[in-house]
Amino acid sequence: MSMKRIAIVGAGIAGLTAALALSRRGIACDIIERAVRLQEVGAGLQVSPNASRILAELGILQSLEPSWNEPDRIALSSGLSLRDLAHVPVGRFARERWGAPYGVLHRATLQRALLSAVEQQPLCRLHLGVPLDNPALDVVSAITHQPADLVIGADGVWSKVRGLVPGAPAPIFSGNIAWRLTVASPKAPPALKANAVTAFLGPGAHLVSYPLGETGSFNVVAISTGPNPGQTWQADASARHHDLLLRQFAAWHPQIRALLAEAADATFWPLCEVTRGRWHNGGKVVLIGDAAHAMMPFAAQGASMAIEDAARLADHLTRAGTIADRLNAFEQERTARVDRVRARGAFNRFVYHARGPARLARNFALSMRSPQSLAGDFDWLYGFDAADP
Ligand SMILES: Cc1cc2nc3c(=O)[nH]c(=O)nc-3n(C[C@H](O)[C@H](O)[C@H](O)COP(=O)(O)OP(=O)(O)OC[C@H]3O[C@@H](n4cnc5c(N)ncnc54)[C@H](O)[C@@H]3O)c2cc1C
Repeated sequence: MSMKRIAIVGAGIAGLTAALALSRRGIACDIIERAVRLQEVGAGLQVSPNASRILAELGILQSLEPSWNEPDRIALSSGLSLRDLAHVPVGRFARERWGAPYGVLHRATLQRALLSAVEQQPLCRLHLGVPLDNPALDVVSAITHQPADLVIGADGVWSKVRGLVPGAPAPIFSGNIAWRLTVASPKAPPALKANAVTAFLGPGAHLVSYPLGETGSFNVVAISTGPNPGQTWQADASARHHDLLLRQFAAWHPQIRALLAEAADATFWPLCEVTRGRWHNGGKVVLIGDAAHAMMPFAAQGASMAIEDAARLADHLTRAGTIADRLNAFEQERTARVDRVRARGAFNRFVYHARGPARLARNFALSMRSPQSLAGDFDWLYGFDAADP
């Protein structure tokens, strides 16, 4: 059966990219989003070449390039001494080696660019300010006034659509939280480099910084263990949480400690994972993006996997076969890839947060690797071509 009309729940990165990819293949899309308007929430995102290649193909990349930054390198540095441990070249190197750029930008910039493309696509209809609190297929049809051949749950880590998929994975709080702050570039300590994504590593914690072109500031995310603030992307850090942040980074370099001491208004959010389980119900419902497989940010691939999912689902849905066969093929293909990315993230977590002798061994092993040889470790990830997987 060929698909004519699809309902997508969630106008985040996954949902909007799916709407674009599907409508370009002639499939009409209704996108249901609970937010009345897509707000300027969130902070920085890293978009690696595997995803920027898809954005280029969808005609989105051109509108991002003027405002995003393409760092020269992804650097690993000691959070205690600020010593450089290793780096992977990106910038022009990424374009040459992986055929697409590595960019950093505000989440809202990407969402706005996708939204504007969706608004110009006659086959897409947006239903903003409509929370799908009680997910059922007839509720979706009542919103869109049209029966859909398929419902795509792109409603993020706390997905409601997941309830329609027997055996779907459930979100689990990882025990880690991320504090998020921005620092105006002129006020940033010298440790934050304007030409790099820098991951500062320390025992049981790490901190990532990169410059955001749109705001002239650095995006800083600090990750360590912490309490669960519940279902939120934007919990304000109370004095208690700010104290916790300062305690977790108390042994770090004075430049980092001073940066965090100034950050009494940092927000924080819980890091939840959605692990193995079914992504579709055999016929009418499929999950993509964080709804299917939210992951820890240790490989910085959450948004990129959502973009890949959207492109690959559009391809599978326009193939021959029953819907169940096509959804099975999609789930099988994407589960294998997501599992590999997750494993890379788990490895990074071990490396980034190493303590004691493991930390010394890590520093020695990293010092033996050339930037080019480290880049080779990412060919399978960044070289992925969704048009020819
Ligand atoms: C507000 C926000 C801020 C974020 N900030 C960051 C960040 O700073 N850094 C980072 O790395 N990642 C951030 N993320 C996550 C990152 O965008 C995702 O990991 C990634 O892009 C995967 O996107 P997704 O589309 O699967 O899910 P999401 O980006 O979570 O999008 C889900 C969408 O579904 C909508 N939705 C949810 N439930 C319902 C419902 N019941 N009915 C209708 N609509 C619903 C949400 O409003 C949202 O627009 C943020 C996500 C959100 C929602």
